[in-house]
Amino acid sequence: MDSKVQAYIDQYGVTDETRIFLNSRHLMYINGEFVNSSDSATLTVIEPCTEGLIGEVPAATTEDINTAVAAANHAFHKGEWSQWKPAQREQVLHRIADLVEKNLQTLAEIESLDAGKAIEGCKAVDIIGSIDLLRYMAGWATKIDGATRPVSVDGEHFVYTLKEPLGVVGAIVPWNWPFNMAIWKLAAPLAVGCTVVLKPAQQTPLSVLYLAKLCQQAGLPKGALNIVTGKGSTVGNHLVQHPDIDKVSFTGSTEVGKIVGKAAIENLNHLTLELGGKSPMVVFEDADIGKVVDATQQSIFFNTGQVCSGGSRIYIHRSIYEPVLEAIARKANAMKIGATLDPSIAMGPAISASQKQTVVSYIQLGLDEGARLICGGKSVQGPGYFLEPTLLADCSNEMRVVQEEIFGPVLVAIPFDTNEEAIALANDNIYGLAASVFTQDISLAHRSVSQLKAGTVWVNTHDMIDVNMPFGGVKQSGFGKDLGPEQLEYFLETKSVWIAL
Ligand code: NAD
Repeated sequence: MDSKVQAYIDQYGVTDETRIFLNSRHLMYINGEFVNSSDSATLTVIEPCTEGLIGEVPAATTEDINTAVAAANHAFHKGEWSQWKPAQREQVLHRIADLVEKNLQTLAEIESLDAGKAIEGCKAVDIIGSIDLLRYMAGWATKIDGATRPVSVDGEHFVYTLKEPLGVVGAIVPWNWPFNMAIWKLAAPLAVGCTVVLKPAQQTPLSVLYLAKLCQQAGLPKGALNIVTGKGSTVGNHLVQHPDIDKVSFTGSTEVGKIVGKAAIENLNHLTLELGGKSPMVVFEDADIGKVVDATQQSIFFNTGQVCSGGSRIYIHRSIYEPVLEAIARKANAMKIGATLDPSIAMGPAISASQKQTVVSYIQLGLDEGARLICGGKSVQGPGYFLEPTLLADCSNEMRVVQEEIFGPVLVAIPFDTNEEAIALANDNIYGLAASVFTQDISLAHRSVSQLKAGTVWVNTHDMIDVNMPFGGVKQSGFGKDLGPEQLEYFLETKSVWIAL
């Protein structure tokens, strides 16, 4: 940790445990042990509010990944984990959840510092959401069952299906929800008896390395969860190509998802891809404007707009177009932007200098394409990768700011005249992660739900997530589901068993 980060945490204060962790040497977690990379190479990690160095983590080598995959294979086929009963898996996941809860403040601080997340939202959504998911999936460990089936072939047979864990899962997560996405990727496979090799994003490896300590403390058998750190182009790439993994579970951009998908298909591995989005919000003539404004606050202006399912395009009926724009801008302009350890802030920085530059370039592109700036539009003077919440109006569907994922606090607005036109515009995009509609008309709401091509559709809200509701996209937002009972199926193989009587 450099002096800039040190001064920052001194100013706001963190738990002793956070200080001890940040001052410790960060190591990967392979086969139940904390290890350096085999060539001792490291990667630096930057704190986005100060642009200071917060730590260094090992840059895993090919050899390290091979060791992690071998450990996961041993744990799955022969190790202690392979012998564990479902109830034992349930108990260990509960113990991990309890330890995460006990260390809630520390984990939120580490995550806030590592990923530039506003501390209060980080606690409520990232960490508590993860505890909920660990407990939810723990409950499923004892409830995986097959079915007996009547068959009509000649002879007498007793026939049933068995649900068996797939094996070793190579899991890769992005930087926008480092801890939470990691739990999304590991809770379900561990619950059903798979083993996992997890790679966090290179920008945000710290909270999952802290999680490794908690897993060890909880008594998770060695090899069940392995964490390797490093760059996607090397560590991630080698992991997804590894011949000894059985499933790739990836969350990240569509661009990288396509590379990962090709590698998985090469080995005929199972595959889940949770990818990018450009989710539309459709505001019909009778919408409750207050609900629309709240939805923008909890999606595109939450987490500095670095939300895969954030409502980033808004289609507004022409009759209420200006009042809706004004109401969104009023609330956006009132958002307090600042240091993420300050509990009173609403929005922290972007993750990195390059992400901030990408967002600024997109805003300029929108203006060059003819958009009208309603609020924001600039980056905030550093240090820190801060940006203003931005609303660009009078856009059209052909514009790049409407079609492409910006991944920042930038909302683009388009007016419409008929409901049919609005749905057609909303569907006119390569992505299909999520969508929302705002109306008091229940028939219009239901019709829109079925017409929108998206993995999740919200009515009069946006970006609500629950552990019991599956989440995943269609079109170029990927395939497969995380969360809910549906996720379990993606880590299970169905075996058909025939017994001639
Ligand atoms: P990214 O695709 O650049 O990286 C995601 C992960 O993949 C990182 O861990 C990275 O190191 C790794 N990676 C990079 N190149 C790789 C390669 N060649 N092989 C294997 N792994 C590789 O995405 P990002 O910038 O970290 O995250 C932002 C993206 O994630 C956005 O597009 C966002 O919409 C998406 N996202 C989707 C969801 C969802 O549930 N659909 C959730 C969160 C984020």
